[in-house]
Amino acid sequence: MSEQDETAIQRATRQLENAAEYVEIDDDILRRLEHPQRTHKFTMPFERDDGTVDVVEAYRVQHDDVRGPYKGGLRYSPHVTQEECAGLGMWMTFKCAVADVPFGGAKGGVRIDPRELSDAEHERLTRRLTKSLRRYIGTNFDIPAPDMGTNARTMSWMMDTYSVYEDETVRGIVTGKSPDVGGVRGREEAPGIGVSIIAQRALEHYGYDVNDVTAAVQGYGSVGANAARHLDDAGADIVAVSDAEGAVVDHDGLPTYEIKSYEEKPSAVTEYDAPTITNDELLKLDVDVLIPAAIGGVITSENADEIAADIVVEGANGPTTSDADEILHERGVTVVPDILANAGGVTASYFEWLRGRNRRKWPKEKVMDELALEMNGSWEDVVEEHESLDGASWRDACYVVALKRLAKAYSERGMWP
Ligand code: GLU
Repeated sequence: MSEQDETAIQRATRQLENAAEYVEIDDDILRRLEHPQRTHKFTMPFERDDGTVDVVEAYRVQHDDVRGPYKGGLRYSPHVTQEECAGLGMWMTFKCAVADVPFGGAKGGVRIDPRELSDAEHERLTRRLTKSLRRYIGTNFDIPAPDMGTNARTMSWMMDTYSVYEDETVRGIVTGKSPDVGGVRGREEAPGIGVSIIAQRALEHYGYDVNDVTAAVQGYGSVGANAARHLDDAGADIVAVSDAEGAVVDHDGLPTYEIKSYEEKPSAVTEYDAPTITNDELLKLDVDVLIPAAIGGVITSENADEIAADIVVEGANGPTTSDADEILHERGVTVVPDILANAGGVTASYFEWLRGRNRRKWPKEKVMDELALEMNGSWEDVVEEHESLDGASWRDACYVVALKRLAKAYSERGMWP
């Protein structure tokens, strides 16, 4: 298999198998975790604004629920495939276990380019998708959330459509919805802020003073922009940020608030300044911290030798291919993996889910305080494991933390035929 052909599920499985070398785990449990529990595929008609009808493919892959209901995003992207959803769903299982939130893992999406959708089409597609999904999700069974190409509005429409079919308002059916309909303030920023919190812990661990740190951030969507701004607030210089067109660079530090995020204004980065380098060149900048926060599979064996950053903090899901991961590990580049670094989103989702259950308000300060507490707690758990494992990567250490929790749940509950 060539590296280009490595699917997300193959990458996730390889990571799981690598980490399994470091921990004694029942073979049956390992085999269980190598496969998703349920895979739903839908072909859905949906009407375009001009009256024509498109037929699009959608998936929901429910990977594992031993620790709690399936949880994970729904993405609208032209790259959505069953294999991608399966890999992303598996990562959610491990992410929720590292973050120690009481959820399993799932992921889904629609194969469509969200940039080609008008607002009305986005709404129609979302309502159609909810109709297809509604028998397979549930507040205690599978709780979707936003991901690439979807946002709070998408989730509010999903909640509304589901509620109309149920004849009652079911706030807990999705997370990441607008705070006006039961979301929590800060959920939107939480994935990026979580990335920054973990980046700061990693920097401290390796003896850096954040005030002397330079960082490059690929992707200026919700994850990238909020990570950049939070790290900027902490004292770091954000020397490069990018959108799909390319990257802007300022070695004295960019004004991270002045540059709008993709959600605030899609072409803001390249409107702020003409891009001077490509996205691939951004990855090779000589900075202290590199945060790939755009799409998967950007650090490959083609560029891994030229990554000049000391620490890579994965904001996106699956930005590093398996071959690149090995190269970076051999070169001594620290890679803090996605399943730890970007767990801020699902952690804030957990607060929102609790809000849906007990109706208690979650002021933004409380969300932020609890988010920091949870992220720092996960970091401590992973550091402890990393120190006890000889020569393991941070990714291995995260998987070992997760695997131990998953294995305990399986042995406690039992696996019956
Ligand atoms: N889509 C986000 C992720 O990849 C959040 C999932 C959630 O909140 O359920 O982690």
